[in-house]
Amino acid sequence: MKRINVLLSLLIMTGSLLAQFNNPPGLNLIRMADLKNDLYALADAHFNGRSAGTLDELKASMWLGEKFRAIGLKPAGDDGTYFQYFTLLRSQLAENSSIQINNISLKLWKDAAVAQMANINLDAPIVYLGNAADIDTNVINVKDKVVAIEANTKGINLDISLPTWRYNRYIFAKYGAPLLRRGAVAIIFIADETGEKAWDDAAENYKRGSYDIEGAFNQNTTAVAPVIWLHPNAKKELQNNTATIKINLIVSKYPYPSINVIGMVSGTDTKLKSEYLLYSGHTDAHGIRNSIKNDSVYYGADDNGSVDVAMLANARAFVKYPSKRSVLFVIHGAEERGLFGSKYFSSHPTVPVKNIVAVLNGDMIGRNNTDSAAILGVKPPHRNSLDLANMALAANKEGPNFKLDTTWDDPGHIEGWYFRSDHLPYARLGIPAIMYTSLLHPDYHTPQDNAENINYPKLKKMADWMYRTGYKIANAAMRPATDKGFKLER
Ligand SMILES: [Zn+2]
Repeated sequence: MKRINVLLSLLIMTGSLLAQFNNPPGLNLIRMADLKNDLYALADAHFNGRSAGTLDELKASMWLGEKFRAIGLKPAGDDGTYFQYFTLLRSQLAENSSIQINNISLKLWKDAAVAQMANINLDAPIVYLGNAADIDTNVINVKDKVVAIEANTKGINLDISLPTWRYNRYIFAKYGAPLLRRGAVAIIFIADETGEKAWDDAAENYKRGSYDIEGAFNQNTTAVAPVIWLHPNAKKELQNNTATIKINLIVSKYPYPSINVIGMVSGTDTKLKSEYLLYSGHTDAHGIRNSIKNDSVYYGADDNGSVDVAMLANARAFVKYPSKRSVLFVIHGAEERGLFGSKYFSSHPTVPVKNIVAVLNGDMIGRNNTDSAAILGVKPPHRNSLDLANMALAANKEGPNFKLDTTWDDPGHIEGWYFRSDHLPYARLGIPAIMYTSLLHPDYHTPQDNAENINYPKLKKMADWMYRTGYKIANAAMRPATDKGFKLER
């Protein structure tokens, strides 16, 4: 009996030791109630959708910095603060720009949407080319001409997120770009039915103009030929080849501020504390835009409030139970405008870049089925660290045990998602990097991406997964190695 008791208690001890080993100590500090409270606050209408470069993004960043302070993170931004400011260069069509057809003024964005800006002033006849499907744009002579062409979606795969405004880009790539190469001075697209459906979304995007990061100030980024969209009813005016157009477009360029929010927990190991695990999310969403289902605030609860609040939860766990390595929490600005916050931080890091051992990025982790999720950067050519991929996959097995969809990590996947979030600039520098996500949903980039529509049990499981992975990395004897010969497909 005694021996059996001893054996039994040994077994129980081993069991609980194993459980302790598998469960990082701060797991109970990742609480659903915190995730929910924080997300309702961050995705509140008060922040107006946190558009990059606006006071709303700054306001939300201050809120995040204040959260960092309350949780007990140390400031790790510039000059002893939680913040790192950087400057975007924004190009936008000036309001005194004008377009007239047959001497009748068109209302910008309503009657005519300028998809490609250019500084141009011209008065010319319009050459009507017909329907795009009937023309070989690679042979036609359009040198020095203003041409009009009817858009056609034949052969264009629109089975992709945000098809409405991507449509315009695809049409341009297929028909517009060859015409420009052949010397056209302006292109007018006449929208088809799909284009009409895309109009509001596309016009909203074009109206906002384009963004770039500092350093671009010296480049001449303005195109020479404008691309203009008209509604389908413009066809009857243009098809007789008698119409004329006056285009007077002025591109204004100006600096635009954005901001990264950075906090830190120092490591406990005298040697390893100079190395950093980096958690990554983004503050910005899409601001206030065209109304969908009677709402015009693009709250960005899933994209990317979900990850920001998961980072706050992870921060609480690491503050209470610090790891051997230091842990950095970087919530980037201006991700939605072109990954600018992560491009900036990775090129102006506040810690030595060679000491960043891994990047755990998340983008949208609070929607869809509670039992499934995805991770990107774990399959070649996107995988840049087998060690990191294995740690993340093991962490999944030990805790949330999600059924993982790995197809989004394929280079042939139409969404090309690996290239659309903040891990990318770090991965390009050879820093082991992965991205957690619960994938797309119909409310992606709409006002319905709000706090009410979040699956909180799912969000809690995703936050746990990120913590389990992070805890392993931050305490491992060896930092994850970068795969030899890592090369992205583009
Ligand atoms: Zn995002």
